[in-house]
Amino acid sequence: MSEFHYVAYAQEVIFGPGSLGRLGEAVDRLGAQRLMLCTSPSLHSAGHVAAIEAILGDRLVAVFDQVRPHVQDVQADEASTFAESKQVDAVIGLGGGSPLGMAKAVAYSLEKRSQPLPIPGAPAAQPLVPVVAIPTTYAGSEMTAVYGITHTREKPPRKITVSDPKIAPKVVVYDPNLTLDLPPELTASTGMNALAHCIEALYSRTRHPLSTAAAISGVRHIAEALPACYAHGRDLEARTQMLIGAHLAGRSLADVAMGLHHGLCHVLGGTAGVPHGIANSIILPHAVRFNAETTALQLLPAAEALGVRVDGQDPAAAVEAAAEKIFEMAGQMNLPQHLREAGVREADLPELARIAFQSHTVQNNPRPMTDAAEIERLLRAAW
Ligand code: NAD
Repeated sequence: MSEFHYVAYAQEVIFGPGSLGRLGEAVDRLGAQRLMLCTSPSLHSAGHVAAIEAILGDRLVAVFDQVRPHVQDVQADEASTFAESKQVDAVIGLGGGSPLGMAKAVAYSLEKRSQPLPIPGAPAAQPLVPVVAIPTTYAGSEMTAVYGITHTREKPPRKITVSDPKIAPKVVVYDPNLTLDLPPELTASTGMNALAHCIEALYSRTRHPLSTAAAISGVRHIAEALPACYAHGRDLEARTQMLIGAHLAGRSLADVAMGLHHGLCHVLGGTAGVPHGIANSIILPHAVRFNAETTALQLLPAAEALGVRVDGQDPAAAVEAAAEKIFEMAGQMNLPQHLREAGVREADLPELARIAFQSHTVQNNPRPMTDAAEIERLLRAAW
């Protein structure tokens, strides 16, 4: 790691219990007057939309509260047309990675519609329509300049990623109070998603000193706080520590190229319909195992943070033990540990492997993938 390159974004991050109350002042600083809110039905019924309406008053001119998982192209078109008709000048995403992705998709679409700029933008370009992110899961999208969108008309449907510096949220409000009612399964699965970001950042081919520091600290926070949040959802201190872990995970995710694990989870989500956190939880031990020999030295701090004794151990053996710990952690939180429990059919594995092999994220893996059969073997082990 003697040479590195990364793009950092000018983002205002507001963290702490009660920080939703500071949304208004952050929006003032942005200068936004006509905001749209993208969220999902459960967050609306939990009363969070009403809270934002009370904070923003007339400045909230549009609410799109029907976001479904995996950002479907049809919905993104609908939401973008709605936003255009309301002449919105900033888009808020409230919820998990799906509403945050939808807010980015709308902002990106408005950017393209209003001025046909060359896309993608230069690293330092400022957005025309900024995104404000208020995460309520641990998925990490709030820190990144990327969203996934599912092309539903393709057979089979395929999820692709869109990346542009202008869609990196300009304001991120982390309020642990908003996560107190996150149900145990979503706590566990999106927490495993955050853990996966740290792991892939540690062995990323584009890692750098800051991404590594964030990822190691992220694993430490998550390893300690996630089981506590799963067991006691309303423990504000545990929720706060876990959200710090998710922030560090998102920070490291934003800076580096992901690999095999991330690419596979996108295929399992977009094509096989597996919820993103569940896919992460099932695949992570297998991806760690696959990369163990090549990346053992990078993964040792994560192994140690997960409670594996690393002193005097062969590094690859310690990483293998870490993979087992991750598998056990998923089981202790009652998450599915096999793809067959997540509705994936055995007969579909070759096709999923073929699609995954074409993914540039999968091809970015530190241990090169030689053919689709290699991915199919991993999927069979996870099945
Ligand atoms: P999600 O956004 O699809 O939400 C899953 C469910 O959780 C929804 O039903 C939602 O209503 C519910 N929910 C969210 N917060 C809640 C809360 N506080 N209380 C109760 N219910 C709540 O799931 P996710 O796992 O957060 O995000 C996954 C999506 O995000 C995937 O599409 C993935 O590709 C994407 N993602 C993108 C990035 C990125 O950098 N762009 C990073 C991570 C994930």
